[in-house]
Amino acid sequence: MRGVSVGRGVWQDRVGTTTWTGNGGGEVVVGSCRALVVVAHPDDETFGCGSFLLDAAARGVTTYVCCATRGEAGEPARGVTRDALPEVRERELHAAADLLGVEEVTLLGFRDSGMSGDPHADALVRSPLEVVADEIAAVIDRFGPHVVVTLDGSDGHRDHVHVRDATIAAVDRCEHDVQRLYLQCLPRSLLRRWAEHMRLVQPDSPYLDVDGAGLGTPDEELTTVFATLEHLERRRAAIAVHASQVSPYDELPEDLARSFLAIEHLRRLRPAGGGGIETDPYAEVALDGG
Ligand SMILES: [Zn+2]
Repeated sequence: MRGVSVGRGVWQDRVGTTTWTGNGGGEVVVGSCRALVVVAHPDDETFGCGSFLLDAAARGVTTYVCCATRGEAGEPARGVTRDALPEVRERELHAAADLLGVEEVTLLGFRDSGMSGDPHADALVRSPLEVVADEIAAVIDRFGPHVVVTLDGSDGHRDHVHVRDATIAAVDRCEHDVQRLYLQCLPRSLLRRWAEHMRLVQPDSPYLDVDGAGLGTPDEELTTVFATLEHLERRRAAIAVHASQVSPYDELPEDLARSFLAIEHLRRLRPAGGGGIETDPYAEVALDGG
């Protein structure tokens, strides 16, 4: 067991060779702070950013989710037709966002490109980066977030990469001054642990076809790590809401699942991380009206 619970809201884990301890929940953020999470598909806000959103809401931060597609290319669970899938996933997105304490969800209306194969004519990856960035910039200007978060795209999904790059571009081109931009990361060391486990229990998993060596964000690029153990149950409830999709955390041993679900790993891009690990993504954020 590599992680250990050391008290309410505290979860220790090893990232690389270092042990991080964070206090889930952190301090309440005084004033009106807003955070925007930008993702590609319904379920990314929960499977990827669920801990971030729950921690933010618990600390009094108003959160928003911007989702680029309705997840048209997802694998429908039994009992869901492909035609019905986008509507089902949109419903799941709203229900999960409610559980995560999200104030408002915005859908951009691009089409899910799928993991591989020839993308649909309207697919997100066929939309020029500037077009996607302009739409995200408009959402940023509407909500005026102090903090923007998107996925690191290190799982290799082309839509995640496209939304990441478009979000980075949007933060530069929007009128609002975004103080902090973070990538929500899958640490490379954690993905290695996951791959080791999958090789043992499911050697024919299609996930293992991809070359695992380049997946995940290198641990030394992480800037911000904190525990969110006290939100684990609610995060799992939000994951269960996405019933049309198979959760990547299903059937993982508890210590491995908690490393994904009870610890937040971020990489700060704005301002660029400069050595050391912070445990509070809102530290030194200047709030409206002081
Ligand atoms: Zn996704």
